[in-house]
Amino acid sequence: MIKARITAENPEANLRDYDRFYQSFSWSDIEKEFTWHETGKINIVHEAIDRWAEDPDKQHRTALIYEKSGNVQTYSYLDLKEKSCQWANLLAGYGFDSGERLFIYLPSCPEMYFAILGCARMGVLFSPLFSTLTFDEIEERLENARPRGILTNSDLCEGLPPETVKQIAHIFIIEGPLPGIFANEELIEGMPEKMQSQFSTRWVKSETPLYLLYTSGSTGPPKGVVHAHRDMAGHLLTARYVLDFRQDTIFWTDSEPSWVTGTVYGMFAPWLCGSTTVVQGDPFSASNWYRTLEKHRIAVWYTTPFTLRRLIDAGEDLVSRYDFSQLRHIAVVGEALAPELIYWVRKNLKLTPHDTWWMTETGMICLANFPSMDIKPGSMGKPVPGVEAVIVDENGNPLPPMTMGQLALKPGWPAMMTEIWLDRERYRAYFKSKGWLLTGDMAVKDEDGYYYHQGRTDDLIKAGVKLIGPYEIERVLYRHPAVNEAAVISKGVRLGEPFLKAFITVKKGYVPSARLNQELKAYVMANLSSEIALKEIAFIDGIPKTRSGKLLRRALRTQELGLPIGDPFNIKEDRK
Ligand code: ATP
Ligand code: MG
Repeated sequence: MIKARITAENPEANLRDYDRFYQSFSWSDIEKEFTWHETGKINIVHEAIDRWAEDPDKQHRTALIYEKSGNVQTYSYLDLKEKSCQWANLLAGYGFDSGERLFIYLPSCPEMYFAILGCARMGVLFSPLFSTLTFDEIEERLENARPRGILTNSDLCEGLPPETVKQIAHIFIIEGPLPGIFANEELIEGMPEKMQSQFSTRWVKSETPLYLLYTSGSTGPPKGVVHAHRDMAGHLLTARYVLDFRQDTIFWTDSEPSWVTGTVYGMFAPWLCGSTTVVQGDPFSASNWYRTLEKHRIAVWYTTPFTLRRLIDAGEDLVSRYDFSQLRHIAVVGEALAPELIYWVRKNLKLTPHDTWWMTETGMICLANFPSMDIKPGSMGKPVPGVEAVIVDENGNPLPPMTMGQLALKPGWPAMMTEIWLDRERYRAYFKSKGWLLTGDMAVKDEDGYYYHQGRTDDLIKAGVKLIGPYEIERVLYRHPAVNEAAVISKGVRLGEPFLKAFITVKKGYVPSARLNQELKAYVMANLSSEIALKEIAFIDGIPKTRSGKLLRRALRTQELGLPIGDPFNIKEDRK
C-alpha cells in the first residue's frame, strides 16, 4: 500500500480536526442552519436562493456566471429568484403539478438552471439528460419516467423518438424556429420573461422527490435515481467541509447537471453556501479551461481525472502562461486519481488535487481527502462526517484493514437516494447485505482509515485464489512515460493463469510498436509481480468512456469477448 504522504495543504480549512469532528458530528447540527428548522417550511429553493434574495445585504451577490463563446452573463440571487418564479409560473400555466416530471434535454444554457429551480419551487421533478444521448437511450428514459414535458431545442428535438413523444403533453422548444415535427411542440422563446416574477413556493416534505437522474450506465442499463429536498443537508455539509466553501467563494465544476456532480455541486451546494458558481458553456479545450480559471478568478475547482489527463496532454508550456493565484483548492471525482496526475498538478498549478468518491445513488460526496488532512496518493480519503463506511465480504460481513472487499455505506445520511424510479426490486438489491448500501465498488482500507479504490465488482480479476482489481495494474502502467491512458481486463483463465489484456493510448511523441508492447509487459512484471503478467497489449486511439468521461471497461470486455450486450460506444482498435 502507498507509503508516500503529501502534507495537508490547508490546516486552516473549515474542517480542522477531522477525527474530533467526525466523532462529535450530528446531522441535526447542520439542519439547524436551515430556515425550515424554525419554520417547518421545507423547499430547497427557499434555502438555496430565496433566503439570500430576500436579504437586502445579500440579494445582489452573484449566484451564477454563465459563459459561452466569450459572452458572460451574470445573475444575482435576486435574479435567480425572479427567473425561477417566472419559470414556475410558465410550467404551472401548462398544467404541471407536483410529482410530475420535466426532462431537460439541452446543452448547457442559463435557462436550464432557471427551469430546474422553477421545477423545484413547485415540487416538479426535474431530470437533466446528456444532450449526446442516442435515440434508444432517450426512448428508454422517456418510457421509464413518462415526463409531462421535455425542454429542448430545435436540433435535439429532431432526434426524439416519435412514437414515445406522442404520449408526452409538451415539447418545449427554447428558441425558434419550431421544427414542425410533432403536434405537441410549443415555442416558449420570450415567454418566461412575460410571467409574474413571484410564485407561491410549494412547501414540501423532506423526502419529497426533487430530481430524477439516470446513472451513466457504465455497468448495465441506466437506473432512474431519485433524490429528495432533504439532500440539502448533505450538500451544505460537503460543500463546506470537503470543498471548503466560504461565502465569497467563486466555484467552478466543469460538469453539466446531466451528471450528478453538475446538479449537486454545480448549483445547489454553492447556492446553499451563498457563493458564486461558474458555468462554462463551451466544449473542453485546455486553453479555455485555464482561461476560465484565470478570468473568473476561480477559488475552488471541482473537476475530474479525465479533465486533468487532457490538460497534461496539452503540455507544460501552455499551463505556465496562466495565472492561478486566486485558486486555493482543487478536488476531483469520477474515477481513480492516479498519483501521476497529483504530482503533475502540484508541479504546474501549485496545488494538490484532492480526490473524492461518491455515486449518483449517494447524492453527495461520501469519502474525501479533506484540505486539512495529509493525502496518501492513490487514496480516496476517509468517510465524510455523518457517513459510516465499511469494507464487506460477499455475505455483508465487515473485513479487517488491508483486505479487499466491497465498499458499503450505512444508510442514514440525508442525501441518500429515496428510490429507483418504478423499480423497487433494484432499489432493494442495494441493501441486500445486512442493510448496508452496497456500492458495487471494490476497495481496501488501510490501518489509518484511508480507502483505496480497486475497481468495480465486475472488473475484478482472478489471479489464482487471489482477486485483484484492474486499477492496481493500470496504476503501474500509468507510471510508464509512454502511457497516456490504460484499461486492463481479464479474458478469463488460460492454463491456470489469468489472461490479462491491457488497452493503451500513448502520449504525444510516442508511437505504438512491437517493442513498446514488450517493454510495457516487462514493466508491469518488474513493478508488480510475476504472477500478474499482462499477456496481451493493444494500442488503441481512445479508451471508451461514459458521457461523464469515465473509463468503460465493460465496453472493452464486451467487444473482446464478443458478449451480447448492445453497447453504444464504438471502439476503434489499432492492433500492433
Ligand atoms: P452505473 O451505475 O450506471 O454503472 P456509474 O456508476 O458510472 O453508472 P455514477 O454514479 O456517475 O455512475 O458514478 C459512480 C461511480 O464512479 C462509483 O461507483 C465509482 O465506480 C466511480 N467513482 C467515483 N468517484 C471515484 C473515485 N474517486 N475513485 C474511483 N472511482 C470513482
Ligand atoms: Mg454506479
